[in-house]
Amino acid sequence: MRGDSTRAVHAGLPAPEQGRPFLPGPTFAAPTHWAGDAAPEGYARFANPTWERYEAALGELEGGEVVVLSSGMAAAAAVLLPLLGPGDVLVAPSDAYPGVRTIALEHLRPRGVEVRLVTSHEDAFTAALSGATLVWIESPSNPGMDVLDLAALAQAAHAAGALVAVDGTLATPLRRRALDLGADFAMSSASKHLSGHSDLLLGYVAARDPERAAALRAWRGLTGAIPGPFEVWLAHRSLATLAVRLERQEANAAGLAELLAGHPAVTDVRWPGFGSVLVFTLADEDTAQRFLAGSALVTEATSFGGVHSSAERRARWGTDDVHAGCIRFNAGIEDLGDLLGDVTAALAAATATTR
Ligand SMILES: *Cc1c(COP(=O)(O)O)cnc(C)c1O
Repeated sequence: MRGDSTRAVHAGLPAPEQGRPFLPGPTFAAPTHWAGDAAPEGYARFANPTWERYEAALGELEGGEVVVLSSGMAAAAAVLLPLLGPGDVLVAPSDAYPGVRTIALEHLRPRGVEVRLVTSHEDAFTAALSGATLVWIESPSNPGMDVLDLAALAQAAHAAGALVAVDGTLATPLRRRALDLGADFAMSSASKHLSGHSDLLLGYVAARDPERAAALRAWRGLTGAIPGPFEVWLAHRSLATLAVRLERQEANAAGLAELLAGHPAVTDVRWPGFGSVLVFTLADEDTAQRFLAGSALVTEATSFGGVHSSAERRARWGTDDVHAGCIRFNAGIEDLGDLLGDVTAALAAATATTR
């Protein structure tokens, strides 16, 4: 297989045509000119060439057939809602993305789906597999940053007769290809690293089985969970730099993790060794807020994956079981020396006033 950056630069580009752009612009349409027998191409809720190029690109990176949707949550819902009915069993991590837990508890459970929420550990998943219909895995988990053995879990789940879906948003297909490791579905929010510039929402599901991809495509058309062509085109344009961005973000995350691990005001530094997200804990809520306010380069914002360094006090959402001083930090692509200086100064400012 060619290198990550080579694949990211060329993914999904059409064959060269004289006088045509490398990446054709977005196709804006509702109905198209379509005479004669009906076909999906006649109405843009069912088909759009801009989606198809981006799906081809992501399909090359994920190693499966991709369906792009309007957000990561639209992608998660497209896996969960049509697949699970009364009597079915969903096994999912208790620290899954909050929206996924809400779908499970507020929409699936009342319809008669048994929802088993387990801690994000291989043993806990394995113990809950009996009779399972679908196993939902998030790895690395967020904000716990636990990395699970996907191959072993997929094997155990399949042996129990369950399908496996992996939310791989934090890893990206350049760090882990869930389908290769045995998953049936690889779901991701492309609002994060895949687009990388904090300017759009998008999600997708990659499926190993083309029939499952076709079912997802039908769900998208039916529910209208469709992405705008301009967002998809922007995301495809940004895909070319994914590998380069990720390398720089990881180098910065590694440098910051080292600084934080050696700092007396910081505890419980978590960085899985890849990706841009690191999590660490300061003494309490006030210290964490002073740290965020005291930084000149780190934007206080939720989400992650973008080129700008950003951070938030995770407990402010009230959706995760985390310490009040827990910071989730996205390493951007700024110069590491500048980031280290800025974070050091912000930590000093955050801890100085407590004396
Ligand atoms: C952001 C995120 C989602 C939801 O994606 P949206 O594009 O915001 O809808 C799902 N899972 C994980 C792990 C995420 O980080």
